[in-house]
Amino acid sequence: MADFIERQLEEIRSRNLYRQLKVVDGEQDATVRLNGREVLNLSSNNYLGLANHPALKEAAREALDRYGCGSGASRLISGNMTAHEELEQRIARFKGTEAALVFNSGYQANVGIIATLVEKDDVVLSDQLNHASIIDGCRLSRAAVSVYRHCDMDHLASLLAEAPATARKLIATESIFSMDGDIAPLGEIVELAERHGAMVMVDEAHATGVRGPDGAGVVAELGLGDRVLVQMGTLGKALGAFGAYVAGTAKLKDLLVNRARSFIFTTSLPPVVLAMAAAAVALVKREPERQCALQRNTQRLRNGLEQLGYAVAGSTQIIPVMVGEEQPCMRLAARLLEAGFYVQGIRPPTVPPGTSRLRVTTMATHTTEQMDQALDAFKQARYMVAG
Ligand SMILES: *Cc1c(COP(=O)(O)O)cnc(C)c1O
Repeated sequence: MADFIERQLEEIRSRNLYRQLKVVDGEQDATVRLNGREVLNLSSNNYLGLANHPALKEAAREALDRYGCGSGASRLISGNMTAHEELEQRIARFKGTEAALVFNSGYQANVGIIATLVEKDDVVLSDQLNHASIIDGCRLSRAAVSVYRHCDMDHLASLLAEAPATARKLIATESIFSMDGDIAPLGEIVELAERHGAMVMVDEAHATGVRGPDGAGVVAELGLGDRVLVQMGTLGKALGAFGAYVAGTAKLKDLLVNRARSFIFTTSLPPVVLAMAAAAVALVKREPERQCALQRNTQRLRNGLEQLGYAVAGSTQIIPVMVGEEQPCMRLAARLLEAGFYVQGIRPPTVPPGTSRLRVTTMATHTTEQMDQALDAFKQARYMVAG
């Protein structure tokens, strides 16, 4: 009966797509102990180095004493605590929106938002490279999905024109793309949406804390807050905590509270987590130099990799080093790890076949010296990739 498990594992291995968990021991930092060995972490979304910051730890300890551990129920039952309300007010101020709603994770937020905003007979226009959580939200909604070529505005315009006039239309995009490190043309997307009467949803998972005024994201950086219906972001990446938020109008929040199944049918986040997130939002505002340090490290590593002749894509703290096939990509990652640099190889199904890459990410807490050591390791391994 369960033979299929071994057969499927065999098939995964034969396609060079087998994945195994690695264990980080100790705190998440610029360097980590990985499977018992100290390595430079070039694989984290903890971009600002807040995941082990004393201010977040302190906030968590205070919340623990004040509120205890678990919340005991979902938000609509008895699990809506002062800490949830306080964090949501803080996020609304941070984003400059009327309201905000916290979800337990970005995955749950995306699934819940999309299935609330569109249904059967509606249309989602989704960037080809959108995150799995957006794709799964589209599936759950049962709306028709029109996938447009990555950041291709002509393609988006023609798909919008083809959509039935009576259908509700939702354009969904990331701001900074998680695996490609480039930025969506949000100004053009908003204009097309307005021309065609479509709603816009922007996933700022990798921009929250990193870009824009006080780290409020790319939508805020471009001054598009009033023209984007749904601004979603995560609290577990640059903000170093856990969970996610949706920022928008009070009516949007009200509808999500009433309809989003991934909000309604799950136990709410514990106050300790919420307090860490609130402390992180305050810290990002107080210490803008973290964003500068991240940009500085990014430029150094990006420029260095380009000079070494690597095919580097995008323009942000996510630095994809394009390799192509799975095997050479994973061999290069293994070689760098041997040298003490933890860089994640990314393969299908996370990215399209033939576009396997190393996903190198920088942190504000990396030193210049560490960036140069990483470049040296990439230099030694350069012979492993063609081109
Ligand atoms: C990480 C990520 C998510 C999911 O957020 P979690 O809080 O980790 O569940 C959603 N969208 C994008 C683009 C992401 O990179």
